[in-house]
Amino acid sequence: MDYEGILAQIAQEIAAQTDRGTPADYIPQLACVDPAHFGMAVALADGRVFTTGEADTRFSIQSVSKVFTLSLALGRFGDRLWSRVGREPSGLPFNSILQLEHEQGIPRNPFINAGALVVTDAILAGHAPREVLGELLRFIRACAEDEDIHIDDAVARSETRHGDRNLALAHFMAAHGNLHHVPALTCGTYFHQCAIEMTPRQLAMAGRFLVGASGFPSQISTGSVRRINALMLTCGHYDGSGDFAYRVGLPGKSGVGGGILVIAPGRASIAVWSPGLNAQGNSALGTLAVERFAQKTGWSVFG
Ligand code: GLN
Repeated sequence: MDYEGILAQIAQEIAAQTDRGTPADYIPQLACVDPAHFGMAVALADGRVFTTGEADTRFSIQSVSKVFTLSLALGRFGDRLWSRVGREPSGLPFNSILQLEHEQGIPRNPFINAGALVVTDAILAGHAPREVLGELLRFIRACAEDEDIHIDDAVARSETRHGDRNLALAHFMAAHGNLHHVPALTCGTYFHQCAIEMTPRQLAMAGRFLVGASGFPSQISTGSVRRINALMLTCGHYDGSGDFAYRVGLPGKSGVGGGILVIAPGRASIAVWSPGLNAQGNSALGTLAVERFAQKTGWSVFG
């Protein structure tokens, strides 16, 4: 397959787009990112990586980090995690509080903010935030085979200063006994995990542990790999998850920094970054880029 040619065609199509979406503005530090950025990387089993655009520029991975914390939590707690968080698409925005009242403080899934806060709260058990963030960075660096991955403190501070909504979610869950640390501590850890910055190349490399085929290093079990992919397909794009599955046909996890990690099971890990978001808070042109990539390669989980 001519991956280089395919990526070059996609970059050309993306460059020609005039409507690039809008960068997230509720985290001021992200609002000033230029929507013109675009980078994409594809990591294959044999170790080859193909890229286009700004594949070596760092961006804020934001909610893509939820894939890594979920992996750590499943490794530590297994199925016990599911007593605190569900596995159903929410059909609501990523930061919605609505369902929590109906469902006794149990968030619908681990990829909406409420669910991710519970996952972070779970891995905080018996550990200080600094230890949890250290373990998370070690895990991501090992997956990416790259030590040069860090937290952007300015982004973490910016979100902490404007974190009322996530604090509200955390307090609401605490009221239902589904938060085991004080909301400020769980939220603070979560804001720092979201502020990890990576390049598209690093993210594609790190995602290989979810490809589930020989040649791809993985630190987690085959069963967990399949289940995390199932959750990415059904819940990875919030109330845009159905549309992403329809258009792309591959599991993906987005973040409000404009990044998307996409897994082609058995084939490759793909990362794309374009900071402009659509109405659901997912990268507008990132989605278009991976839609085109799936069309041109013929890759799909549906055969
Ligand atoms: N840190 C962001 C928040 O909690 C992550 C949201 C996202 O990437 N969808 O709002």
